[in-house]
Amino acid sequence: MDHSIMIICEQSEGRILPVTYELLACAARIGGFYNSSITAVLPGNTPDTDAISGADLLVINSPGLAEYTAEGWEKAALLAAGELKPNIIIIAHTSTGYDYAPRVAALLDGSCITSVSGIELSDGSIRYRRSGFHGKLDMLYKEGKQPLVITVLPGAFPAYDQQAAPGMVRYMNADIQPVHTSNVHFSISDQSNTELEHAEVVIAAGKGIGKAENLELIREMAACFNRSAIAGSRVACDNGWLEYNAQVGLTGKKVSPQLYVACGISGSMQHIAGMKDSKTVVSINRDPDAAIFKNSDICIIEDLEKFIPAFIREAEKHHEGRV
Ligand SMILES: Cc1cc2nc3c(=O)[nH]c(=O)nc-3n(C[C@H](O)[C@H](O)[C@H](O)COP(=O)(O)OP(=O)(O)OC[C@H]3O[C@@H](n4cnc5c(N)ncnc54)[C@H](O)[C@@H]3O)c2cc1C
Repeated sequence: MDHSIMIICEQSEGRILPVTYELLACAARIGGFYNSSITAVLPGNTPDTDAISGADLLVINSPGLAEYTAEGWEKAALLAAGELKPNIIIIAHTSTGYDYAPRVAALLDGSCITSVSGIELSDGSIRYRRSGFHGKLDMLYKEGKQPLVITVLPGAFPAYDQQAAPGMVRYMNADIQPVHTSNVHFSISDQSNTELEHAEVVIAAGKGIGKAENLELIREMAACFNRSAIAGSRVACDNGWLEYNAQVGLTGKKVSPQLYVACGISGSMQHIAGMKDSKTVVSINRDPDAAIFKNSDICIIEDLEKFIPAFIREAEKHHEGRV
């Protein structure tokens, strides 16, 4: 086979994570078009690994890969690429994947398409789909210079059949030492948030709240309802306004309350993935073209700093503080 696809497994402590099978499904679609060989690469400190379904596995094994670093993963990817000479490299668009993928593309003098959410096969060529401008645009990209590195959004492809025949496992022992990176502290935060999981009304804050102080508006609005909880988009959590256990979305909590109020949230597909099963969605956004409105039952085009205080005043007037 002249055409080769390399996927890089997503792993945690040597355990291959399910999103890897979504990458395999993506590889299988592209591979069907080019008649490609598909090899999965597992960077880690994992001298003993099970085979995976549907592809051969190349384990890049080094004590320096015991924990993720961009530098380590980039070196492992380059080592594997030297061996496999891939035309296409597929990496998960996770917080680690999009950290090192563009560096791999640059170091291999290739090209890179990030956040791929789909593939279109037409007119004898492949187009890669990604959204832009906070979900407002749906864009199709042609392949660039090879090797092409793509990062694929988790959830974009149904997982590859895990019952398919396992491939062969090959080990490459390496001495990969991150030179520019040192591990200061590594911890996993407590992800439980029972209040949010059981809430019937969720008031969610996005980047559009603008500042931490405006979280008080969100809290006050939540206090207008029984069995309510507050939540946030990833940006709201990244900004430190909320704990990560309040993040709703693909990499956060999945919620399905009776009422979900999105305040200053643009409506990225990663956020929608966590709240699309809500019974009624109300969105407050000052941008009339915000993508969240496509997934809303009630669209309020207004500055939230004006709308929320007015709502709270009305709620207090009509229902003595509770609706
Ligand atoms: C692998 C991966 C996983 C991810 N997982 C998640 C996830 O689980 N959850 C998640 O939420 N995101 C996730 N993201 C991030 C996601 O892609 C978006 O970046 C994020 O959801 C955007 O957050 P936001 O809507 O708060 O901010 P923005 O996209 O910046 O939107 C802010 C919105 O606020 C509006 N606004 C601004 N000021 C006001 C105002 N005064 N009044 C009213 N409206 C206003 C703007 O018009 C805009 O629409 C993930 C991304 C990746 C790559």
